[in-house]
Amino acid sequence: MVRAIVGANWGDEGKGKITDMLAKESDIIIRFQGGSNAGHTIINDYGKFALHLLPSGVFYQHTTSIIGNGVALNIPYLVKEIQSLVDRGVPKPHILVSDRAQILMPYHVLFDTYEEERLAGKSFGSTKSGIAPFYSDKYAKIGFQVSELFDEALLKEKAERVCVQKNVLLEHLYHKPLLDPEEIYKELLSYRDMVEPYVCDVSAYLADAIREGKKILLEGQLGSLKDPDHGIYPMVTSSSTLAAYGAIGAGIPPYEIKDITAVVKAYSSAVGAGDFVSEIFGDEAEELRHRGGDGGEYGATTGRPRRVGWFDAVATRYGCRVQGATEAAFTVLDVLGYLDEIPVCIGYEIDGQVTRDFPTTPKLNKAKPVYTKLPGWKCDIRGIRKYEDLPENCRKYIEFVEKEIEVPIAMVSNGPGRDDIIIRK
Ligand code: GDP
Repeated sequence: MVRAIVGANWGDEGKGKITDMLAKESDIIIRFQGGSNAGHTIINDYGKFALHLLPSGVFYQHTTSIIGNGVALNIPYLVKEIQSLVDRGVPKPHILVSDRAQILMPYHVLFDTYEEERLAGKSFGSTKSGIAPFYSDKYAKIGFQVSELFDEALLKEKAERVCVQKNVLLEHLYHKPLLDPEEIYKELLSYRDMVEPYVCDVSAYLADAIREGKKILLEGQLGSLKDPDHGIYPMVTSSSTLAAYGAIGAGIPPYEIKDITAVVKAYSSAVGAGDFVSEIFGDEAEELRHRGGDGGEYGATTGRPRRVGWFDAVATRYGCRVQGATEAAFTVLDVLGYLDEIPVCIGYEIDGQVTRDFPTTPKLNKAKPVYTKLPGWKCDIRGIRKYEDLPENCRKYIEFVEKEIEVPIAMVSNGPGRDDIIIRK
């Protein structure tokens, strides 16, 4: 049985918490896209962790955590992340890395940084983790696959070939120091030694696991609106954030993904640039940012203050649809307990016309939010475990959102901890 846990918004919806919680009852947890450019914050018995590359199942001894072929694999980062868990008393997790995963190289980070510098004010708000240059190289067929690390002649030849191309850009476009093929080759050999204990034919492993009826979770990074095809292009990430891509990025048949849990945040937040229709500013925003998430809305990887806004039903309904969501997990609801009234964006006004359909970027650019207001519940809902025990206005908010997004809300998260969850019957 395969379930995907994916974001319906711009990321930071709390997928890590939901994955960590569901991992308890699962056998295998897989990252299928993205890299170490975004973080998942998890609070459990071992403490508070920000995971960037490892799946959020690493805290259990009975689970296998997999880095799928679709991930941008930063090998030294992986080793460091595993070590940082062990150093804090987490038993060493069982980890597998796909032999078809590609390797994020230090020059990808450099190119990311140089390009942001070159674009200056017109930049895409990259986290400078090398993700865009990595995926460009993968599809230009000049990336290094984990399997290739075990063929020295191939590595040597390819390192030289790649450097010729990269050095033209470094010299003439960026005016920066050139790459040395010998150094790249040596780097790759050191990566081979680091990753070797984890390398596995993951799609074969998963085919067996599926046959044996194992419970498998696909853990998405970021959210629908950051998808390169269906998101707010070009202010998107460079690998698909959609559940459908889980089949490719893990190496399983698409029809095996039976459940798609879209994680939906009770208000909006986003990092980086891009249109954000229900964004709020000033004191109103500062208050929500300060109270938001767990200890404020600041990026888990970058520490950047997140942009915040009211719940956007237009973007979220679309976000759930492109995910193919079969259910929603509604998160961070406890944060809204301070408000007398809660605005919800239920339409976009574009050129004088109101629409409920999420538009393409050139139109999104012109969209203005149309709000309705719901009464607040003015109390702390943390600690509540039964849906019926939630204040009436809080249930009304949930049920209003559920109707708007057209997906059943199966879980409500009312705190950052593993047990802060209300399962709806
Ligand atoms: P992810 O990338 O989707 O896993 O999300 P992040 O981990 O980046 O951001 C979610 C933030 O919200 C983290 O700080 C979580 O600890 C926190 N969080 C998750 N669920 C809840 C919740 O229900 N209530 C509160 N207050 N915080 C939550």
